Amino acid sequence: MRLSKLHLNTLREVPAEAEIPSHIWLLRSGMIRKLVSGVYGFMPMGFRSVRKIEEIVRQEMDAKGAQEIHMSAIQPAELWMESGRWYVMGPEMWRLKDRHEREFCLGPTHEEVFTDIVRTEVSSYRQLPLNLYQIQTKYRDEARPRFGLMRSREFVMKDAYSFDRDPAGLDESYADMYEAYERVFERCGLTFRAVEADSGAMGGNASHEFTALADVGESEIAYCDACDMAATTERAAMQGTAPGNEAELPLETVSTPGTKSIEEVAAYLRIPKEKTIKALLLTVYDEEGRPAEYVAAFVRGDRELNMTKLINFLGVPEHRVGFADEQAMGAETGSVGGFTGPIGIRNCKIIVDSELPGMKNMCAGACKPDHHMIHVNYGRDYTAELIADLKKVREGDPCPVCGAPVKLARGIEVGQVFKLGTKYSESMGAYYKDENMQDHPVVMGSYGIGVTRTLAAVAEQHHDEKGLIWPVSVAPYHVIVTLVKHDDPVQKALAEKIYAALLDGGAEALLDDRAERPGVKFNDADLLGIPIRITVGKNAAADRVEYKLRREGGFTEKNTADAVADAIRLIRAEIRGMVKG
Ligand code: ATP
Ligand code: MG
Repeated sequence: MRLSKLHLNTLREVPAEAEIPSHIWLLRSGMIRKLVSGVYGFMPMGFRSVRKIEEIVRQEMDAKGAQEIHMSAIQPAELWMESGRWYVMGPEMWRLKDRHEREFCLGPTHEEVFTDIVRTEVSSYRQLPLNLYQIQTKYRDEARPRFGLMRSREFVMKDAYSFDRDPAGLDESYADMYEAYERVFERCGLTFRAVEADSGAMGGNASHEFTALADVGESEIAYCDACDMAATTERAAMQGTAPGNEAELPLETVSTPGTKSIEEVAAYLRIPKEKTIKALLLTVYDEEGRPAEYVAAFVRGDRELNMTKLINFLGVPEHRVGFADEQAMGAETGSVGGFTGPIGIRNCKIIVDSELPGMKNMCAGACKPDHHMIHVNYGRDYTAELIADLKKVREGDPCPVCGAPVKLARGIEVGQVFKLGTKYSESMGAYYKDENMQDHPVVMGSYGIGVTRTLAAVAEQHHDEKGLIWPVSVAPYHVIVTLVKHDDPVQKALAEKIYAALLDGGAEALLDDRAERPGVKFNDADLLGIPIRITVGKNAAADRVEYKLRREGGFTEKNTADAVADAIRLIRAEIRGMVKG
């Protein structure tokens, strides 16, 4: 492609809405274009990179025997009612009606649609196992679309669904997909970790998330260097503490005027935050959005409540849980904003973090304005309906597997795999007959890769202060030939020759033949992040050019044949090294 012909609109200024490097550079390089909040289109360079990722995904899925199909984005509500998810999904689901008032959604995911295929088209064990996938546009009306492609409302996802006869079959399908995902993200040049994850609205009982490490990532993971524990912090289990051996002191109510926060009460009573109990007051809403139940959750004062864990214990969809209105809850349960404790609260579900029962002589709100209780002990002074691990893991907490201190890191969730089991096949009636004509529900898995989010994650991990630094595998073009003086016949002839030789050798090449100053051309090559640059300038008459890798600082001078051969060798090596076999 000649840059003189390429439709390219680079931006000089950082667009106001872009906060993180990947978003800034994808916009500035003109690869993506915003339409409205959370909705982006792909321009020529951007679309090439998207297709590169799609092709890598496709190759690795095909290598595992998965078969590509393409389903519609529009899905009828009835399917979601059958699985029971029409109401679980909440406002993130993009719902619409047709002219006859029939309800539909724009698919946020396709478990229902694929289960429907299998329940009508698969009836015998002979047709299993089966893995079907698609690379398709998904819609989620995210509460906070941000960071460009990272969290958008329309995005490209590869979603695959496996169908097996039994759990052992599912284990194999799951392991295959896990391997395929590792290969995909390696080939995309990502530094990532596969970690245990929560299965959220997807259901099922086992899941892993593939997290590309990045400080700006919205996923937080906990891992242990001493063993191979690695999980999202939402999921990471925590050890309970052994009962303390302090003698239990008599319960006392003390005046603590104006001490609404844990910090304030700890300072006022001169006790460590670890000796306090923090209350979190929540309302669970029914399907019509009316308050159905109050929940008081208690964790140690220095801890943070892990909402995902709590929601899992409550067993209700996320969008039906919210922080309680202090006044309304107080009237019903006796809670007092800032002074709520487990003693004296009533008419609500009390859930206590597993760390608390072992802790002696704690301080908690007295359910009375400006008062706390001290020497509060579980069993003697309060009990709970449920004791559960509700806290967020912190750096240095003991690893739930081996006890060594855990580490935390941030990252971008680029993919997730789920063992679904029979949740969808049972609710939607996807059964097969075995050798003895006995009916069994199909055992399912589902597997997603955010294709467009992966592009953003690659950009997030590969850039510098000048722009993007694409790995060869994802780069829109492999090499750019920069013609320094576009009207110098010797330079021009040599640049054309090199360009032709590159194309001939199978390289994807750009020729910067624009009537621009050299500085502009160099800046654009850096901004676009093309992995190899061959600069044809003043030494053209001697058949000498500059050969430069975007990811390295300096350049080397070569004759043209060597430059072309080196470029082609490097491209092949980086692409072949990544293709299996
Ligand atoms: P998140 O927790 O980030 O909202 P999710 O767990 O809801 O994501 P999945 O249902 O697992 O997402 O979807 C599969 C993949 O699709 C994710 O791993 C992610 O890469 C991608 N994805 C999900 N939501 C978005 C989004 N709003 N924008 C871009 N990609 C997304
Ligand atoms: Mg996910």
